[in-house]
Amino acid sequence: MATLIISDLHLSPERPHIVQLFFKFLEEQAAQAEALYILGDFFEFWIGDDAGLSTDFQPVNDALKQLTAAGIPVYFMGGNRDFLVGQAWADYTGVKRLPEEYVIDLYGERVLLLHGDSLTTDDVEQQAFRNMVMNPDWQAMFLGKSIPERLEMAQQARMESQKHQSGMKEEIMDVNQNAVEDVMRKHGVSKMIHGHTHRPDMHDFLLDGDMAERIVLADWYEKGNVLRVRKDRFELNYFGGD
Ligand code: MN
Repeated sequence: MATLIISDLHLSPERPHIVQLFFKFLEEQAAQAEALYILGDFFEFWIGDDAGLSTDFQPVNDALKQLTAAGIPVYFMGGNRDFLVGQAWADYTGVKRLPEEYVIDLYGERVLLLHGDSLTTDDVEQQAFRNMVMNPDWQAMFLGKSIPERLEMAQQARMESQKHQSGMKEEIMDVNQNAVEDVMRKHGVSKMIHGHTHRPDMHDFLLDGDMAERIVLADWYEKGNVLRVRKDRFELNYFGGD
């Protein structure tokens, strides 16, 4: 039995093949897992549970509901695209929501999970966006708008984000090593797992003289990606995409 960790699927009705790949993943891998953790940007966008529980995303919600009903624990933390996933969605799917930084015990090892957007501190614009949308007042304002208005604002934000990214240097959009070390010290861990940057890798480094590791999950743009964890074993596996 393994614990599975995924991130950055960016599920969207515009990319039905990735939605199908996710269903296949649930059936062939997650259904036999000890637990499934989703580290954010699972949805390409999420403008509120009232919208997402009644639209094109419903087959995905139903598939998760089926998995949790079969007894597989599923955990979700929001990313910068789906931070508005709320309690109504959690109640419907049976998925448990996690706070933005969360330490789990993985077969005896304490491991910090997070989406990763809080680590790209050199990207000033991204951080300003994050500060705005993580503010409860902003979220209440946004959720108070009509669904068409929210859709419009989300489309706008996606377009601006694409424009912003295309003009950015690669290293600015990657994590800041000081931010990585700060959050690991804060939680007293020597291992962390995140997504967001779409730069899959396993980074070993020294943290205050001790070995530390940062595992980065891949996005699901072309194929699927899962971190499969068993005792003392962390494997990044790809599948699909042909
Ligand atoms: Mn992200």
